[in-house]
Amino acid sequence: MKLKDKVALVTGGARGIGAAIALQLAREGAKIVISDIAPEEAAKAAMKSIIDVGSECKYFQADVSSFSDAQKTVDFVLSNHSTLDIMVNNAGITRDNLILRMSEKDWDDVLRINLKSVFNFSKAVVKPMMNQRSGKIINIASVVGIMGNAGQANYVASKAGVIGLTKTLAKEFAGRNIQVNAVAPGFIETEMTAKLNQAQKDAILNLVPLKKMGKPEDVAKTVAFLASSDADYLTGQVICVDGGMIM
Ligand code: NAP
Repeated sequence: MKLKDKVALVTGGARGIGAAIALQLAREGAKIVISDIAPEEAAKAAMKSIIDVGSECKYFQADVSSFSDAQKTVDFVLSNHSTLDIMVNNAGITRDNLILRMSEKDWDDVLRINLKSVFNFSKAVVKPMMNQRSGKIINIASVVGIMGNAGQANYVASKAGVIGLTKTLAKEFAGRNIQVNAVAPGFIETEMTAKLNQAQKDAILNLVPLKKMGKPEDVAKTVAFLASSDADYLTGQVICVDGGMIM
């Protein structure tokens, strides 16, 4: 129970990696607030699993790309709990295409939801974290933000941006005892990767030395470590959870 009585906010927590992160933080004793763009009904299963492990879970519907929604979400957390200790910026989308065929809308949507969201929520949480003189911000990036990937210019740019933003926020907030780190998943079994065809999956698996896809729980355990006091001396780092794709 390394996170006993800590309060964690997880964006995009209704399903996929976000739901696994929320559950893992709950298993370690944290009280959870899930935020997602869908109505609360979509998070029913995720919330039940958190309550089943003996923790608390509240829900706030919000679009991470909206600056005002981010502030409202953080206000909701603080009105229900006196602190906000752990902020996990997880929500993300893909709109894949070769750049020759990529629409301006698909570029803008991915950058807004994957990158501007991290700015929005970091702005919203930094003041309460500064006041409480501690905090952990964990941003979910991707290995493609480090290595590039044909057909994902918008997504890769957003995740490379998340990595740059993580390092900058780590430097800006270090003096306030707020650690900011990123987790870069590789190829993880979720609805996001279920959209890929078998040929695309085989091509990616060829790049994975461990020769298998990761599970949302693999990412969640790394996030839980970064959220704990065991990681107090880590900031500005990018931890790849990728079966060895990047080394
Ligand atoms: P997912 O299964 O598609 O889940 C994403 C979640 O984010 C969904 O609950 C979705 O809600 C929510 N969301 C989408 N747009 C949102 C918005 N504007 N505001 C608030 N919530 C929003 O994706 P995942 O695979 O779990 O990915 C989670 C994170 O890991 C993402 O940042 C992704 O880029 C990153 N990642 C994933 C992989 C992988 O292999 N799966 C690899 C590297 C990085 P709806 O269901 O309502 O759309």
